[in-house]
Amino acid sequence: MKWTYLVPGMIAFLMFSALTVEAASSSLQNFEKQRERMVSVQIKARGITDENVLKAMRRVERHRFVDQQYRRHAYEDYPLPIGEGQTISQPYIVALMTQVLNLDDTKKVLEIGSGSGYQTAVLAEICHSVYTIEVIDALGKRAAKLLADMGYGNIKVKVGDGYQGWEKYSPFDAIIVTCAPTHVPQALKEQLAEGGRMIIPVGEQFAQELVLLTKQKGKLMKDAVIPVRFVPMMRRDGKPY
Ligand code: SAH
Repeated sequence: MKWTYLVPGMIAFLMFSALTVEAASSSLQNFEKQRERMVSVQIKARGITDENVLKAMRRVERHRFVDQQYRRHAYEDYPLPIGEGQTISQPYIVALMTQVLNLDDTKKVLEIGSGSGYQTAVLAEICHSVYTIEVIDALGKRAAKLLADMGYGNIKVKVGDGYQGWEKYSPFDAIIVTCAPTHVPQALKEQLAEGGRMIIPVGEQFAQELVLLTKQKGKLMKDAVIPVRFVPMMRRDGKPY
């Protein structure tokens, strides 16, 4: 091939590559701005004050936990589909549930309902270690891979029925449940450490209450937080608990 063809071709190619890199980095900056805005408008403004939570939510790239087609909505004030009929929770709900658990870097946490892995990442930013269980095989595997790719070394993901908890690693300083059973599972009550906190939506399919349980001298104290609507907690055969 003659230089007269090759040189303009190479220049065009280099210009094109530079433009694509430029576009990718400006959309990353854009996501960072959207994240900052999400934290100030949806989270701080609604009364979330825990610095650990605000910092974690500024850091975790929520757009990486949703499908390409939903990325531009990743920082909006609502839940989004993540496949298999499941959803990633609204950012404010993630922040609220995390805040009421009073977490820090000494805590070992159990999460039921890994879903996209977003809430898991927020917990992992703050806590010493996170154990998370997902009942749908495809979601559990995808979350495990993404979280490992993002470099989290303090998360263990298991595909299984979270109704049973994860006895091997119990007791947990905190338990967070992101799917709704009709009652608090006995195993989870037992696997909560003394002084520990559990946040869980409890109720029928369309009317649940977010409940905070605190274990004091072996007994569970209960506080209702707000009414919510989560996907039901399911058995492995897909039937709700
Ligand atoms: N925390 C998730 C929200 C996922 S929605 C996120 O940030 O994306 C709730 C998840 O709970 C769904 O993925 C659903 O499959 C899962 N789930 C339902 N029943 C379950 C059970 N018995 N054990 C574990 N996970 C369950």
